[in-house]
This record gives sequence, structure tokens and C-alpha cells, in this order.
Amino acid sequence: SDADASARWAWADVDLDAIAHNVEHLRSVVAPSAVWAVVKANGYGHGAVEVARAAMDAGAQGLCVALAGEGAQLRVAGIDAPILVLSEQPVAAADDIVRFRLMATVYTVAFIEALASAARARRVEGVPVHLKIDTGMQRVGVAVDGAVAMVAAVRAQAPALRLVGVFTHLAMADEPADPFTARQLAVFDDAVDALSLPPGVLVHAANSAGALAHPGARRSFVRAGIAIYGVSPGHGVDALCGALRPAMSVSARVSYVKRVAAGSRIS
Ligand SMILES: *Cc1c(COP(=O)(O)O)cnc(C)c1O
Repeated sequence: SDADASARWAWADVDLDAIAHNVEHLRSVVAPSAVWAVVKANGYGHGAVEVARAAMDAGAQGLCVALAGEGAQLRVAGIDAPILVLSEQPVAAADDIVRFRLMATVYTVAFIEALASAARARRVEGVPVHLKIDTGMQRVGVAVDGAVAMVAAVRAQAPALRLVGVFTHLAMADEPADPFTARQLAVFDDAVDALSLPPGVLVHAANSAGALAHPGARRSFVRAGIAIYGVSPGHGVDALCGALRPAMSVSARVSYVKRVAAGSRIS
């Protein structure tokens, strides 16, 4: 904490040992898959740089962020781990992705071309790219029937760009009884098969709930957010979260005590 808690009535403590414990626990659950720690939104409010360091020290293999600027912040702090930006960024952020050696997520030809231009302008080759495929979340990502063309669009930008990963995002993984997750994974498998990827391309699908409740979703690595902070992703997976330790605690001291007459109205 950057503030002196003794000078405040209320404060939040972040226990980085709990982050480390949670990462180690998840690693043991998902092995041989790896764990990448999601530290977007300032590490879910816990401090992105501190959480990133704790997670990497505990054996995470990489980091995920929502914005190129969040990745840049980690690089400026001296963090050298792989950093994946989880969604396509505005074209204006393409140069920062190259400059700060981030992994880009792509799903439009316009952004692929912008990223390749940014790489060429800096004479950088092999900017790592992950293709995001929408298998039913209906948020971002290329439609399944457009995935082959999108891989071709990345390959057309060699040597500036290099496809290193293919992924999808699960919509219902926190409700293990819902058959939607199995359907998404089946759609994903068909889409990945159709890409005939060379060996070594990373394949990933699971958020925290997927990692805990759906062994078939674990793949090359899991993208664990809420679970590394020690919070269950949802009631449907509470039973699988017993070994997680909450990393944040909020405390307050009583600031003022007043006696009032019986029957008087307060506040
Ligand atoms: C935020 C996010 C995650 C992490 O989700 P949790 O439920 O917090 O584990 C994983 N993948 C993507 C694409 C995300 O945006």
C-alpha cells in the first residue's frame, strides 16, 4: 500500500503471499497446462505490477491485460514476462504493442494490417499474434467461418507478424451443469482443426471457472483472473475454490462514538 494505513480510518490490505498461493494451487490443478495471470483493471484493483511480479514468482508463465497501456505499464516497471492483450486494440495502439513487445490479439484484417505496418516502421519482425475466435460468447473475436481467412491474413504479413496462439472465451463456465461450455469447446476444436496449425502454436480457452470446473478447457494454458485473487468465479464453482485464499481484506477503525437518547432517530 502506498498510503499509511494509520493515517486513515479505512484501508485495503493486499496479501501477495495469497496471490502466490493461489497461482501455485491453480498450477497444481491444471498441470500439465500452464497458468497465465490476468492482471487487467489494475490487477482487479489489487495493483497490477505487484500482482504480476507475485504471480510470475509463483510460476505463472505469462500475463494478460485488457489494454495496450496496461501492458506498457508492466514493461516500464521492468516486467519481462510474455504479456497478452486480450482483445483487439484501436489502430492507434498498434505502435505501443510493438514498442513494448506485447502479444496482440487479432480478429480483423484492418487491425492485422495496422499492426504489421507498425512492426515494419520499427523494423521489428515476428510480432507475436493470437487469433481470437468467437465460439458463442457473442462478444469479440472472428466468427468460426472466418478463422481460416484470418490466419491467412496474419501469414500474409510475415515476417512482420507471427501467429503464436489461437483462443476463445467461455460464456458459461461458472455454471458447470450448463451444456453450453461443452458446445463452445466442440466448436472451438473444429475451428482449430480447420486451421491445420503448425506444432507449437498455443491454444487456450479457460478463464478461472473453465480452469477449475472444465478439465477439457485447460489446453496450453489457462487465463486465470478472479481465482488468483482468491475469489470464486461464481456460486456454481464455489465447491472447487476451497483452497483459494482471498488476497484483499478491507478494514476500518471506529472513527467516532456518540451516545444518543433512547428513541432518537439516527442517520
Ligand atoms: C478477464 C478475462 C479472463 C479472466 O477471467 P476470470 O473469470 O477473472 O478468470 C480470461 N480471458 C479473457 C479473454 C478475459 O477477458
